[in-house]
Amino acid sequence: MTFIKTPFGITLFLSVLCVKIPCMPHTAQQVYRHLFKSLGPQGWWPGDSPFEVMVGAVLVQNTSWKGVERAIKNLKQAKVLTARKLYALPTEELSEFIRTAGYFRIKAKRLHNLVKFFVERYRGSVAAMRKVDTQELRAQLLAVNGIGPETADSILLYAVGKPVMVVDTYTHRIFARHGWVPHGTAYHPLQAHLTGQLPIDAIVYNEFHALLVHVGHHYCSPVPRCESCPLRQMLPASGMVLDECR
Ligand code: SF4
Repeated sequence: MTFIKTPFGITLFLSVLCVKIPCMPHTAQQVYRHLFKSLGPQGWWPGDSPFEVMVGAVLVQNTSWKGVERAIKNLKQAKVLTARKLYALPTEELSEFIRTAGYFRIKAKRLHNLVKFFVERYRGSVAAMRKVDTQELRAQLLAVNGIGPETADSILLYAVGKPVMVVDTYTHRIFARHGWVPHGTAYHPLQAHLTGQLPIDAIVYNEFHALLVHVGHHYCSPVPRCESCPLRQMLPASGMVLDECR
């Protein structure tokens, strides 16, 4: 049995995940099982609190985690990484703290929109958000200017703990290159494809997304490194499916 400590101090028993998934010959489940066996638990999301995860979910839009880490460090050093303090901080000042995350003026506005929603609607309480129906909360987040499906779902899963699968560029690239979905599949059909083959479980979704990000980051880049990738045995016999539109 494998134990991991989550960022919020909850200990998870991860081998139970493999037992609770019924044996179905479906792609998403096979990929999840195979990656978990090959790479082990990923211990996501990197963050000290649910609020920090929410901030990180906005800052990581269209950029790598490295610049986000530095931006979060700046906010911590300035002692403004709380909902109330960011709510009161002018966006111009906020943008200076988050420069390293790229697109910092746009992201400062987006982050401020999210914090305003969080403070005014939920008094800055993640526990209050947790009580709301998942689809209702998702719709509320998507109504915040600058929060798209990937950011909303990252907040729902990693900050609030709701069972919502996150889909990103890596997920799309991996599934399309293996021929499991067509290239160009939109966010929600791909999300439905993944979740239709897995139990509705925040712990499984948490781990699966983190494992796919690991593969995308280390192997399935624009120039793929299939020879060392843990998913190489799952490629079609004819090889990787290319995106004909590129
Ligand atoms: S085997 Fe190749 S195409 Fe498949 S995920 Fe790995 S790098 Fe990408």
